Amino acid sequence: MKRVLSGIQPSGQLTLGNYIGAMQNFVKLQETHECFFMVVDLHAITVPQEPAALREQSESVAALFIAAGIDPAKASVFMQSHVPAHAELGWLFTTLAYMGELERMTQFKDKSSGKDSVGAGLFVYPTLMAADILLYNADLVPVGDDQKQHLELTRDLGHRFNARFGDYFTIPEPYIPKVGARIMSLDDASKKMSKSNPNPASYIALLDPPDVIRKKLSRATTDSGRDVIYNPAEKPEVSNLMSIYSHCSGLSLDEIQAKYEGQGYGAFKKDLAEHVVATLEPLQQRYREIRESGEIHAILKQGAERVAEVANKTVRDAKEKMGFLPAQ
Ligand code: ATP
Ligand code: MG
Repeated sequence: MKRVLSGIQPSGQLTLGNYIGAMQNFVKLQETHECFFMVVDLHAITVPQEPAALREQSESVAALFIAAGIDPAKASVFMQSHVPAHAELGWLFTTLAYMGELERMTQFKDKSSGKDSVGAGLFVYPTLMAADILLYNADLVPVGDDQKQHLELTRDLGHRFNARFGDYFTIPEPYIPKVGARIMSLDDASKKMSKSNPNPASYIALLDPPDVIRKKLSRATTDSGRDVIYNPAEKPEVSNLMSIYSHCSGLSLDEIQAKYEGQGYGAFKKDLAEHVVATLEPLQQRYREIRESGEIHAILKQGAERVAEVANKTVRDAKEKMGFLPAQ
């Protein structure tokens, strides 16, 4: 059975972008693959996090995994920091990466631009991500389009290790949805929707109440003109809303276009909000039940125990290949 690995940072409220770009695929892949899904808290601290908020968001993201349909009997769900092998292999890969290739990463450029002081963790973020993936010799990595460049680097680091120290790591393939791989901000379609955006009007959070969803979507920026047409180059705003509509309704982009021909944006945005609400309401209900039951702690414990065996062996093997003296 092929292996799948992916993670989401507890760096804020999960958004519809995270759901459409990544989580929906997690749920599909668990039926056919051996899956490892983690809350990447070590990545979240590459930008400052308030400790109480980090704790709450970590539990919230884990509960959302389950609420979205990940079944802990089929997939291992765990916190990255509960498996110390991630940090250890991360360090080994940091020593294999070049400054130049890390400097080219657009996520680093985006997240550091305009900041006076930029944490070194943000710079080496992709080497920890490479470790996360290679630790489990994953075949497939379901992510949004924004992580494609990091996955390329993961592949390069895997090849580099294999070439220098002998074949060991599986070189993973990205698994990126055809539509919805890059859901854009509601207030600016030139930027991707991000949970760490300080303006909550820029995203739909998975836990937003129905009225907040309706308000955010009615205020979402739309292009000039009034036709509901999918053309990301010329009509980025409406095209983005159409992608969301398509994912939440099951209608194709052509069907949506035909449905709103000659009707303008108003009716389209109203219906869109109802489709998003209908998609998220059952998830929110399950989320509340999971949080109240407190079951998430046992799920995370079991997940970490299951994956640690694989992860610890990889670190032992990698260290041996690199020439570390084994501990007796
Ligand atoms: P942050 O702003 O803290 O980086 P984020 O919203 O980008 O948060 P991540 O935890 O970095 O979320 O990414 C989790 C997953 O969601 C990744 O697979 C990423 O590719 C995907 N993803 C993030 N944003 C989007 C988006 N706008 N559209 C589609 N997929 C996305
Ligand atoms: Mg991100």
